[in-house]
Amino acid sequence: MNVVTRIAPSPTGDPHVGTAYVALFNWAWARKHGGRFILRIEDTDSTRSKPEHEAEIHTALAWLGIEADESPAMGGDHGPYRQSERKATYRQYVDELIAGGHAYRCFCTAERLTELRTFQKAAKRPTGYDGKCRSLQPDESAQRAADEPHVVRLAVDKSATTRWNDLLRGEIVIENENVDDQVLLKTDGMPTYHLANVVDDHLMGVTIIMRAEEWIPSVPKHIMLYSAFGWQPPIYAHVPLLRNADKSKISKRKNPTSVLWYQQNGYLPETMVNFLALQGWSPREDDEEFTIGEFIDKFDPKDISLGGPVFDMVKLDWLNGEKIRKLDIEELADRLQSDGWAGEWHNDELLKILPLFQDRMKNLKDFEPAAAYLKARPEPDLEGLAKKTKKVDPAVLVTVLREAAERLREFEGHGDDEREAALRLVAEKHEIKVGALFMGLRVAVTGSVASPPLLPSIDSVGLDESLARVAALTDRLAPTT
Ligand code: GLU
Repeated sequence: MNVVTRIAPSPTGDPHVGTAYVALFNWAWARKHGGRFILRIEDTDSTRSKPEHEAEIHTALAWLGIEADESPAMGGDHGPYRQSERKATYRQYVDELIAGGHAYRCFCTAERLTELRTFQKAAKRPTGYDGKCRSLQPDESAQRAADEPHVVRLAVDKSATTRWNDLLRGEIVIENENVDDQVLLKTDGMPTYHLANVVDDHLMGVTIIMRAEEWIPSVPKHIMLYSAFGWQPPIYAHVPLLRNADKSKISKRKNPTSVLWYQQNGYLPETMVNFLALQGWSPREDDEEFTIGEFIDKFDPKDISLGGPVFDMVKLDWLNGEKIRKLDIEELADRLQSDGWAGEWHNDELLKILPLFQDRMKNLKDFEPAAAYLKARPEPDLEGLAKKTKKVDPAVLVTVLREAAERLREFEGHGDDEREAALRLVAEKHEIKVGALFMGLRVAVTGSVASPPLLPSIDSVGLDESLARVAALTDRLAPTT
């Protein structure tokens, strides 16, 4: 099966997670069939499109491993396609539409259009172009075009109905009376989205379009264009929009929406890919954690589900933790270093200490603060300790911790089991829970109530320094009188 897919982002803002989400589906489907996945930059809005946003789209996709074909990154010689560089192509197709009576020049001024709109709104009628210039004779229209600013509009047959089959939604029917005579070419000679999108999808041989559902209202205009040109439209699959936790369309205010934010905040690219895939699709076995290769194998656009997917950050963090645990230590050390999360730690140190942290990390960003106690004496979380040991008399806790320190010295070099048994005896002797004793040592040595396992932490810090930390804590906690 010949499969050509694409994404067509407009470089008008940060690279959006929604773009990555549709990119992933389109890319995976092309990969599965040995087809092509095209990246086309739709930069026809010359005021809002910015080269830095285009660069960020490339960075974001490269980070996720979603590489376009026919782009410099792939050694191709055609891409990336930029619509702003293809004006002559669109012009030629506009002329064809005008000649065939499918489009017409419109000379209405901005003032007239504003007036028309105000009037329609006041009368509570649908807004849209009233077709004034549609009745101009071709000769007059061509003559005026020589020196009068104008746009070109699609001549919609208002009496007809447009229907098409969406792969995910079945038949969609839209009455053309609700479709505006869309501007296809702007006064500055730039095409609008609708024209450029259709022409390019056709010329690039796109066979299936997976994109967000917000584009459904545009489809009738596109289908009219395909039919005016005598072209076959691609298959459409309009996927559900990503949503905030409250089910509203995902927005910056409630959720980070830039792919680069996730890169800059310690998420793994494979987490993002897995998570984005899960937003619209789930494997039959219900195993939510999978690799990109497994996704490509199993994915079929027909299986995309329409229930509004919620971008759940709690689940994302869980999944990131799972992915971190899947990495071997060398790979984890490598990622931390290459992404700038390793701080002052060298590779050989990382290889030694990472086993302590890997199980607890949800995020690459977590590592450096969590490991800081190994390099410098931390400020103990006294409040946390007080909460966790509230049933224990502070004076008793001090005594217990001091005795525990003695036992640790005595059992230096012994295995974890023996040391643990010795500490347990201390707790039993003073009738406190062993958990409280461990918590005291943990806060003394690591500063925190949530830390890697205690005894390996003591070993990593070193016994002398660990016991000095315990002494410092008990001195602070001991009653002063
Ligand atoms: N330029 C549109 C966008 O920014 C493309 C929509 C489409 O895929 O047709 O999303």
